[in-house]
Amino acid sequence: MNSLDKSDIAEKYESRINDLESLLEISKSLSSNLHYSSVLDSILLTCMGRARVLKAGLFIKSDINSKEFTLHRNYEGFNPDRKIKYSIKEDSGLVKTLRTNPACYTMPELLNKVTNIADIKPFAILEPTLVVPLINRGNLQGIIVLGERIINEPFIEDEKDFLLNVAGMAAIAIDNAFLFEVSTTDMMTKLKLKHVLFQRLQKEFERNEGSLFLLMMDIDHFKKLNDSYGHSFGDVVLIEVASVLIGSLRLQDLASRYGGEEFVIVLKNTNLKDSFSIAERIRMEIASLEFDYNEDGKKDKVKVSISTGIAMYNPNLDCVPEDLIKRADSALYTAKENGRNRVEVAK
Ligand code: GH3
Ligand code: MG
Ligand code: MG
Repeated sequence: MNSLDKSDIAEKYESRINDLESLLEISKSLSSNLHYSSVLDSILLTCMGRARVLKAGLFIKSDINSKEFTLHRNYEGFNPDRKIKYSIKEDSGLVKTLRTNPACYTMPELLNKVTNIADIKPFAILEPTLVVPLINRGNLQGIIVLGERIINEPFIEDEKDFLLNVAGMAAIAIDNAFLFEVSTTDMMTKLKLKHVLFQRLQKEFERNEGSLFLLMMDIDHFKKLNDSYGHSFGDVVLIEVASVLIGSLRLQDLASRYGGEEFVIVLKNTNLKDSFSIAERIRMEIASLEFDYNEDGKKDKVKVSISTGIAMYNPNLDCVPEDLIKRADSALYTAKENGRNRVEVAK
């Protein structure tokens, strides 16, 4: 073997080692993140950097029961037409091809493999340079589509191998983030579950840093609403009320579903005046909602309201999370006693 061959081989190994090192970094960063939306962001940005493309998007199932993969809103660079539904059916030939022959495909390669052209239409409109399947445990978790390249060159095999490896890790990260989301979130309202609230309060009690306020909220006369308009109409109201709560909070706060139509909000690093203002703003926003009921020939405009009890964490009074919750709950009771659709502060 002459010295030129040796240096070629050395260069090849060096590039392999570089690739493995960056794969390890990507794996570490993906697996340390459980926040679903930011996992998707980092997958797309990683692929864009490695593939040197200006656009990237991810087709993924919107929930556990979904039967199709839809273009997720966290796409980069693409400018999808709002009137078009970018979705691919789970039972389509395209999905079967990607699952049984997992590889990176250019559009011409895909057109050779897939018989039903309609299957790939949502891709074709985006004019991808490469399509990369995300496979975990033999299941297709999603599909990455990459747009135009910065360099005007086709993808080489090493690049495709690398991207397929990244996609494999991305599929695991998405799976983990999804399982985490499902185990901590009430799927109907998207609020956090009660056990997450207690975990958070326990942690805050142990840390005892900065102020902490607990807001206990309960929809007024909800039983009557269910009785008048039915349980599924009640569910629509619950989802809307929850989305007001979620939209009113900062990242450091927490909104949870404490019971059927009872919610607990944890506010960090604020004061009584601001906590009260937040509670009032939420109360007014919910009171301004109007729900259209139109079923079985009965039409109605339906309004709802909530009552709120606020308690500030006091280490001298609150030994365990239940103590603080109890104080907020009795303020909520006062709000109900005083006529509902109002906010009361615990003594
Ligand atoms: P108050 O103003 O005193 O709070 O009266 P209320 O009728 O809201 O109070 P109550 O606690 O008696 O009623 C709560 C109702 O919430 C009873 C239950 O059927 C309903 N509920 C609980 N969970 C759900 C749910 O997931 N969906 C629907 N639609 N209703 C629910
Ligand atoms: Mg209740
Ligand atoms: Mg109620």
